[in-house]
Amino acid sequence: MQDLRKLELTYLPGIGPARAKMLIQELNINSWHDLLYYFPYKHIDRSRLYKINELSADMPFVQVKGQIISFEESGAGRKKHLIAHFTDGYMLMDLVWFNGISYIKKVYKLRTDYIVFGRPNLFNGRINITHPDIDPANTLVLSKMSMQPYYSTTEKMKKAGLNSRSLEHFTSTLFAKLQEPFPETLPAYLIERLHLMSLDKALRLAHYPSTAMELSHANMRLKFEELFYIQLSILRYSRERQAKRNGYRFEKVGDTFNNFYYHHLPFQLTNAQKRVIKEMRVDMNSGRQMNRLLQGDVGSGKTLVALMTMLLALDNGFQSCIMAPTEILAEQHLETFRSFLGEMPVHVELLTGTVKGKRRQAILEGLKDGSVNILVGTHAIIEDNVEFMRLGFVVIDEQHRFGVAQRARLWKKSLVPPHVLVMTATPIPRTLAMTLYGDLDVSVIDELPPGRKPIKTIHAYENKPEILYNGIQREIEEGRQAYFVFPLVKESEKLALKNVEEEFVHLQQVFPNYRLSMVHGQMKPADKDAEMQKFVNGETQILVATTVIEVGVNVPNASVMVIQNAERFGLSQLHQLRGRVGRGAKQSYCILVTGYELAKDTRRRIQIMTETNDGFEIAEEDLKLRGPGDLEGTQQSGVAFDLKLANLARDGQLVENQILWNRLKELNQKDEDWSRIS
Ligand code: ADP
Ligand code: MG
Repeated sequence: MQDLRKLELTYLPGIGPARAKMLIQELNINSWHDLLYYFPYKHIDRSRLYKINELSADMPFVQVKGQIISFEESGAGRKKHLIAHFTDGYMLMDLVWFNGISYIKKVYKLRTDYIVFGRPNLFNGRINITHPDIDPANTLVLSKMSMQPYYSTTEKMKKAGLNSRSLEHFTSTLFAKLQEPFPETLPAYLIERLHLMSLDKALRLAHYPSTAMELSHANMRLKFEELFYIQLSILRYSRERQAKRNGYRFEKVGDTFNNFYYHHLPFQLTNAQKRVIKEMRVDMNSGRQMNRLLQGDVGSGKTLVALMTMLLALDNGFQSCIMAPTEILAEQHLETFRSFLGEMPVHVELLTGTVKGKRRQAILEGLKDGSVNILVGTHAIIEDNVEFMRLGFVVIDEQHRFGVAQRARLWKKSLVPPHVLVMTATPIPRTLAMTLYGDLDVSVIDELPPGRKPIKTIHAYENKPEILYNGIQREIEEGRQAYFVFPLVKESEKLALKNVEEEFVHLQQVFPNYRLSMVHGQMKPADKDAEMQKFVNGETQILVATTVIEVGVNVPNASVMVIQNAERFGLSQLHQLRGRVGRGAKQSYCILVTGYELAKDTRRRIQIMTETNDGFEIAEEDLKLRGPGDLEGTQQSGVAFDLKLANLARDGQLVENQILWNRLKELNQKDEDWSRIS
């Protein structure tokens, strides 16, 4: 069979250059292969025709055969709409359109048999269907349409006349054109033992099943395959790691660590922090390279754990570095480290893109001759001209910004790869973490330092801002600070920006006695940092921002986080944002501002946020609502993959099958099997 990845879309009838371009841009469908792997998000049973007198407003999708008797235009301006009076020969119902009116009137003829399809509503005592699908009755063979696929498309595609029906048309044309069966991708013994469908059959049935049962079998096969290959690559990773990566031995706990622990640490470590430090000590003394993911909710004290482990490295004669995703975070780490360390003889330096000239030269030399013990920085650290004398330990803060490739560059900075700790504040359930970051061991800080007051989260509606403003006024009068955050959605960046700027002006009027900062994604990094710094220093009381503040700034004095258009944020994002407050001992608040009308999922998200502060609980809920395919940053995680069908939270047990695991272990020991896969 020809390689379907090489077959361009334009070789299919019905797809010209313009449509092909749109499919590439909007859905990343580039080839025949991609099209086959673009699965429907649902199927609707269209085998049955209803009579109008059977319809009620609580039914899902229905279809009725009949004729349009007359058209009627109604309303004016934005309310203008078209009604078609439609009869099945016994009763009347209405078909309604709010746009495309002249087109509809031209295309559909009176007194002609059509099959209309849509969701019935009840309006003024009469059934209607808004924006129905309409097909000439003689073109639809209903017995063949028992399960019609529905594909998601974008607004832009719909405007260009490319809808789910077009995709349906393309995929069915494609299947018809395939002369040979799709080559099998799983070994025969697996297919046989697990009673899986062939790939060819599964692909066809995932698009065009005739029953729900067939669909579920097909999906099961495809999901299994996705997860199977993920597991394979994970096993390969971990095998490579164990085989190849000898690591430095950190044998002792020395004076620097002990001095810090007994004389400088201003508080007790939490039990979780102690446990994690111990886990790392064991790892770092095992003779193998440590590759560890440290998960902990915002504010759980990961940074301190990182610092103490760096002191351990120092005691064993090694340098360490910590890499933060932004300059401001790197600066904060530097400050945190210096204030924790006080007068201790530990040489900490900062290296970011803005450290230049002589200063930079001095730091680079200090790294080379070993006089700099700890380097704090941004990805400037991984540039080739940064050389360490003896780099033994690397910390990467906020996982999602750094991929495997970048980590690998760090390894190259010393003969034996340094131990690596990746810290993330986006908690994911442990089993999932193992699957996603299979090349990393996982540690969890599941306990917050004592004395934190849980943040109070309140849902507010956008049309009643006065109460909100009064509350903020009181907080600021007591010397606290507040954040106002706006979503930044890609397609409407301009719009969001306008919102932020307008809101900034508006808030200046609301709070004339206070000073406000504004930061957004379109500012130069230096300007952004400067504005942010003003807020960090307390020069400004209110920070109006797009989501650029999401990651990590620490302003313990800030006690209010207002999230505008909270409906536009995902759960984990909301939780991250909320984590910016509640860092001091005072009561903090998070206000989620939304419109009145909310979709069911959105309402649920807001509800979860108001009910719990527990990042892990939130992560679980998030998975249930979205599935891990959307998990932020999956593409950049340890294993590069793109889950199309499988939902790791729900379908994980598919690969927990014992037969499979045993077989995988066997495979893992045989080199020749691996060459077949890669
Ligand atoms: P994370 O990096 O996990 O978001 P941080 O390390 O920034 O958390 O810690 C948040 C705050 O809690 C910091 O001000 C830190 O000094 C403080 N902190 C850390 N560990 C403890 C502890 N065991 N007891 C009290 N405060 C702590
Ligand atoms: Mg942090």
